[in-house]
Amino acid sequence: MEYTYEMCPFCTSEVKIPADWPAMCPRCGNKILPCSTCYDDLPGWKPCNWTENKGCWRFPKEKEGNKDALHTLDGKETKK
Ligand SMILES: [Zn+2]
Ligand SMILES: [Zn+2]
Repeated sequence: MEYTYEMCPFCTSEVKIPADWPAMCPRCGNKILPCSTCYDDLPGWKPCNWTENKGCWRFPKEKEGNKDALHTLDGKETKK
């Protein structure tokens, strides 16, 4: 599994999270997207277009009712 380092926008700590899916901040419990990997220069990828309301094209914000599915740092899916 690949990891990336992201700055948590909620508690501003730098945390290591899986590069391929959103994860929960180990410090504050908020959801962090691995958006630094959105800028990897891969074929067919477009730049991250993250907005607070919509998320970004790789990790669109979940629709209502489906928003509590998160992954822990080891990749297991959890429900709040
Ligand atoms: Zn945090
Ligand atoms: Zn992104």
